[in-house]
Amino acid sequence: MSEKTREELIGEVADLIANAKRVVVFTGAGISTESGIPDFRGPDGLWTKLDPSDFTYQKFVGDKETRKKIWQLNKYMGLTWKEIEPNPAHIAVAELDKMGKLDCVITQNVDGLHQKAGVPDEKVIQLHGNMQWVKCIECGVRHSYDEVERWLDAGAEDLECVQCGGVLKPDAVFFGEAMPVHETMEAERRSSGCDLCIVVGSSLVVYPAAMMPQYAIQSGAKIVIINDGETGMDSSADVRIWDRAGEVMTEIIKKVKQKLGT
Ligand code: ZN
Repeated sequence: MSEKTREELIGEVADLIANAKRVVVFTGAGISTESGIPDFRGPDGLWTKLDPSDFTYQKFVGDKETRKKIWQLNKYMGLTWKEIEPNPAHIAVAELDKMGKLDCVITQNVDGLHQKAGVPDEKVIQLHGNMQWVKCIECGVRHSYDEVERWLDAGAEDLECVQCGGVLKPDAVFFGEAMPVHETMEAERRSSGCDLCIVVGSSLVVYPAAMMPQYAIQSGAKIVIINDGETGMDSSADVRIWDRAGEVMTEIIKKVKQKLGT
């Protein structure tokens, strides 16, 4: 079955994109590992170094010591977030947008790299939130990470909302925390309305995020999966490329441009 060459597979994806009107790109941690962001679940993943039980919503909200620990970690991670740049795979997705092919990106990532690569904010649906923002769990007021960093640098250990005194929390979805309702519904709607869904760097095992490509299939869309590892939907893919995304995506976009004569 997988007798096709890499070149042929890339050509097939380029054909699908050239013929598609509404492309939804679904991304997971794998697209950002080439930018130096560690995969959470892989063999060198963050969860081999950190205790996932510290990242439950209940523990964060209920325990001041846990919060102190996580803000210290954030202070360290914050610098990393800022220095990290989008890689060729993020750039390729932004190229799809410039070509007028991209309906939206649905991402499990919290790194904001799609926006940094040039995809407009309103076209990025962040299923698991975004670490660049901090939000009050009581009144919902948001603060940028830069602001939070100034507080941490000034010696703050635990952060309270200036407006209502509520607990401030990174605006990323923690374990045990509900998925954001608006984003989840919007992702479901857009997945059901696309004619091509390209999965990049996700093993499609985290639900309900991994449902999105299934909605696309149910609505008759074609599915492309580019991931350097097994995924939960390999048998459903129209084209399956087993590789890291940066180089492959760049070649695909080059081919699409040739086909469209742009
Ligand atoms: Zn508040």
